[in-house]
Amino acid sequence: MIDQYKRQIDYMRISITDRCNLRCTYCMPVDIERLEHESILTYEEILRICRSASELGIRKIKITGGEPLVRKDAINLIKEIKATPGIDFVTLTTNGVLLEEHTEALAKIPLDGVNVSLDTLNPNTFKKITGRDEFVTVWSGLQKLIKSGIPTKINCVPQKGVNEVELMDIAELAVKLPVDVRFIEMMPIGYGKEYEPIKGEEIKSRIKEKYPNIASQKKIRGFGPAEYITSEEWMGNIGFINAISHKFCASCNRIRLTSRGFLKPCLCYGDGIDLMTAMRSGVSDMELKNLISRAIEKKPLEHNFDRQEDSFHPDSISQELKRNNMEKREMFKIGG
Ligand code: SAM
Ligand code: SF4
Repeated sequence: MIDQYKRQIDYMRISITDRCNLRCTYCMPVDIERLEHESILTYEEILRICRSASELGIRKIKITGGEPLVRKDAINLIKEIKATPGIDFVTLTTNGVLLEEHTEALAKIPLDGVNVSLDTLNPNTFKKITGRDEFVTVWSGLQKLIKSGIPTKINCVPQKGVNEVELMDIAELAVKLPVDVRFIEMMPIGYGKEYEPIKGEEIKSRIKEKYPNIASQKKIRGFGPAEYITSEEWMGNIGFINAISHKFCASCNRIRLTSRGFLKPCLCYGDGIDLMTAMRSGVSDMELKNLISRAIEKKPLEHNFDRQEDSFHPDSISQELKRNNMEKREMFKIGG
């Protein structure tokens, strides 16, 4: 479907749970209120939304969280989403803690890709960032994933004074392993507001000093806005998602569904449509499709993390999109 600014929206990220088995300092450092099962979408409701969204042109789905693999039977849900007519690609973003036990099942689906979030290669720094001593588990899960043949990306959020000294080692995973390594600028969302982002350009310059012959990768890799560099000698590529230093809203192709069933046209604002309440009040499939298409149509022109406003449609919220203060800018609720 095309939105009001002529962008094609064909990608939906779905957060299937708020819960997580890590406590990353910039995302969910403290225990969160445990949501009752009734306050999150059931698998049947998620599948119903996927069917309606696919009829509106959504072709790619990313499963995220919280940590998606902590939700019971997540693999079956992923399998069913992948089998939904019209959905061509399904990928997963995970912290990797439960990868080892699930990789085989994911490969059987077959899943189209997995992004593993890994900010450090140092077990002590891992514990400092995530609050848990799980580096070795994540690392062996990652190795198993790579061996399984599922296309693998490693996502790293650079943090001043935390993993800054390791960024070259992390980048070089793409030299030695068949993976894409992506550096994601810290966004001022939730606890991320307390961090100063390290710009992607700065990391790219450091890599260029060591590898002067790198080339920009023109081919689009994945569904998103990452810009890649590569070299013939590398097994993978290095990407940069510079949401803060280089806005890429003009080519944004996505919407986000939270675990509480709130459909957000933009990560930055609290505006969206409460699909859970609508479905539980008995909307027809046609009405559900209309609600999703309204959210897509109203997608704002761009994010604006500088202004602390939480709405892009101050005048029309009551008629069209509602504001949901509970989902407001917390990454583990939105799913990244
Ligand atoms: N638990 C899974 C994981 O860590 O991959 C999926 C959910 S997590 C919210 C998705 C991604 O968002 C992770 O790569 C994480 O590093 C990133 N993230 C969380 N807070 C962020 C922030 N403030 N700025 C940029 N990325 C952030
Ligand atoms: Fe959990 Fe992912 Fe947030 Fe870390 S970034 S606390 S792993 S949801």
